[in-house]
Amino acid sequence: MPYLPSDSRYDSMTYNRVGRSGLKLPAISLGWWYNFGGVDRLENMRAIARRAFDLGVTHFDLANDYGPPPGSAEENFKTLFNQDFRPYRDELVISTKAGYQMWKGPYGEWGSRKYLLASLDQSLKRMGLDYVDIFYSHRPDPETPLEETMGALDSAVRQGKALYVGISSYSPEMTREAARILREMGTPLLIHQPSYNMFDRWIEGGLLDVLSGEGIGCIVFSPLAQGQLTDRYLGGIPSDARASKTERVWLTPDHVKKNLPKVEQLNELAKARGQSLAQMAIAWTLRNPVVTSSLIGASSVKQLEDNLAALNNLKFSDEELGRIEEILKS
Ligand code: NDP
Repeated sequence: MPYLPSDSRYDSMTYNRVGRSGLKLPAISLGWWYNFGGVDRLENMRAIARRAFDLGVTHFDLANDYGPPPGSAEENFKTLFNQDFRPYRDELVISTKAGYQMWKGPYGEWGSRKYLLASLDQSLKRMGLDYVDIFYSHRPDPETPLEETMGALDSAVRQGKALYVGISSYSPEMTREAARILREMGTPLLIHQPSYNMFDRWIEGGLLDVLSGEGIGCIVFSPLAQGQLTDRYLGGIPSDARASKTERVWLTPDHVKKNLPKVEQLNELAKARGQSLAQMAIAWTLRNPVVTSSLIGASSVKQLEDNLAALNNLKFSDEELGRIEEILKS
């Protein structure tokens, strides 16, 4: 069936301004790191992407290496874009990134001009797009001069291949320096993409202050700690869950077991708020106004819908925030 997006797609989503730019992003965005690769079912990802757009999720976040195998999420994006989303290109913000290893040899990863610009060309081809809305340096490169990496981002904009640029997982100091270099080049640093969730709070140690001071947006990844801050693992580790998949080395059964006592207590608190744990975890990442968008993943339409309903209650009392701190320290 041809896809006709819902007429009510802009009725329930909140759109937040990205730093001091002209762009707005949905308070909840959809990431394509997992569940959209060559190993996944196209019809499931189509259903998730359609439902997301129907509910106002105008931002899909990709990277050169998303899959598995690397590159396959961008290829699946092309299929779905051509079949479903092409008429709505101007209603969508599509991002991609380069930084992690994508091809063999010295030019296939990190932050050189050689790698970043070649990777962007490859991504555009795989995605069937003329340009992306946001192009990111996916990780800081300790060996390449920051001027070179930022210069490549600036070139991507000047070549018309990206509208805006971002960085991911840069320290507060490198972020300030990257912003200065880009400002001098005339291409503002739009956004930073760091990890952030109740178990991973590194951005509270300076990065949020830098972003606020510089007027840079913030889209936080893995707000659910890859599924741990949901009911996914409350009854054990399901065989189809991320922690069971051997190629998903970023989340192991050991992580899940270690955090479970806290997750159980957080789940009780979420219930008392009349929310699912996933909804409370997402709302918690959005409590600081410097955070523009919470970047979730979902392996089903049901998970996506559960997560988007977080927007029904974003407020926390001081007592609830205090209780969360207590649980996290327990
Ligand atoms: P999350 O923390 O949101 O984890 C998503 C996973 O949690 C899902 O795949 C699913 O796991 C589970 N889940 C989601 N919703 C529910 C629910 N309501 N109930 C039960 N389980 C649920 O985010 P991700 O780790 O997937 O990251 C999100 C995005 O962030 C990525 O797609 C990517 O775009 C970006 N990212 C960026 C990085 C960077 O370096 N810049 C690094 C990592 C991510 P299951 O599959 O087991 O069902």
